[in-house]
Amino acid sequence: MKIANKKVSAVRLVKDALKKAHEFEDYNIFTFLNDEAALKKAEEIDKKIANGEKVGKLAGVPYALKDNFLSPEGETTASAHILQGFSSPITATAVEKLEKEGAIMIGRTNLDAFAHGSSTENSYFGPTLNSHDKKRVAGGSSGGSAVAVALDIVEFATGTDTGGSIRQPASFNGVYGFKPTYGCISRYGVVAMASSTDCVGFFTKTPEDMNLLMSIANGKDAKDLTTLDDYYVDSKIKEIKKIGIVKDFNNNSVDAEIRKALESKCKLLESKGYEIVELEMPALKYALAAYYIIVPAEVASNLSRYDGVRYGYRSEDSKNLDGLYANTREEGFMPENKRRIMIGNFVLSSGFYDAYFLKAAKVRTLIVKEYEKAFQNCDFLLTPVSPNPAFKLGEKVNDPVAMYLEDLMSVSLNLAGVPGLAIPAGETKEGLPIGLQLVGPRRSDKNLIQFSKELEEEK
Ligand code: GLN
Repeated sequence: MKIANKKVSAVRLVKDALKKAHEFEDYNIFTFLNDEAALKKAEEIDKKIANGEKVGKLAGVPYALKDNFLSPEGETTASAHILQGFSSPITATAVEKLEKEGAIMIGRTNLDAFAHGSSTENSYFGPTLNSHDKKRVAGGSSGGSAVAVALDIVEFATGTDTGGSIRQPASFNGVYGFKPTYGCISRYGVVAMASSTDCVGFFTKTPEDMNLLMSIANGKDAKDLTTLDDYYVDSKIKEIKKIGIVKDFNNNSVDAEIRKALESKCKLLESKGYEIVELEMPALKYALAAYYIIVPAEVASNLSRYDGVRYGYRSEDSKNLDGLYANTREEGFMPENKRRIMIGNFVLSSGFYDAYFLKAAKVRTLIVKEYEKAFQNCDFLLTPVSPNPAFKLGEKVNDPVAMYLEDLMSVSLNLAGVPGLAIPAGETKEGLPIGLQLVGPRRSDKNLIQFSKELEEEK
């Protein structure tokens, strides 16, 4: 990052970022631009630097915030109609940590409403366009953040990853996207999707930047009791020898050019002396089914708080309290939100709980064990992020199952709580970015990011 080298002023950096953000308006990246407040903060930082005062590690670095992080700057809408008009009184822990180091939020980015989706087409504000082809999707749910970094508007952006929402858009736009170990970064102040799989992470252009952001954002937080102790430290670096590839993720169901990219990265690793081993991970084929039971169950519970009384939008068409709830929810949620609320309540209902939710919870345990076994036979795994590169706008949005299949290779990591780093791995003949993901055991985050340098494109 061009940060505190003090050769460029914070005001210059912020002005440039905002100018680009306005220039790229047709990509529909931002739900809010923070023009005035961002410039004011930049001026304060420049003043501090001029006075020789100490500034943070991210002093003057403009960044984009996925619009499901709470902060009083702009409305926090999660790209949902039902949160329109909601200004948060609190600030997410992750945002607090970034800003304490001097990072400056220049805008909030578009997402699938409540982070439900894989293309950013489920946003109330309409889709974000892919950075490499405007006729294609940005990926999702953090599409806006991925495109903001890919188009060089900002140095980094925040994301959330419940089942692939950082890694998949990162791979569709040719940038790095990291989903840490579950509990590594506090979820306090992040609009909840599925609390047992939600993770906060980042989009960057380099592994070094990712490492810096992780070292700032990680750590125990009294406001989120699922946070882990501060394990993201230098001492845990371990020597890596063996990289595993998953047999089921390297067959005809995966785009041929993505398989070729995987093969060429394996060759590169072999040439550097690493051993490549092929692993069978049969439990992973049940991950998608288990995910689309567990996640809607948690979604149904987490979305029950939006009732027209406490947050944002309230329907005017309400004759009594029940009508207020029903009409607000009917008008305020997107179809995909409603679909998940219905599935979630169904799988949790007394007649079906054992058949669906309980069974999915057992499958989740099998997946956790499958990863533990895999990491006895290799240090890290290298797999595709998704079965195909960015697809066309409108291609899957009316076919929920086709959209869910996008998540085939990403969701099992969230069910197991293990970290995954999406890395750029070349482009298709058509010029679309290809991404691969490095997967490690729980708490291997630092090592994983460090190791990704071995796979960097030759410059
Ligand atoms: N695409 C996945 C879903 O729709 C993941 C979403 C996410 O990670 N927020 O559930």
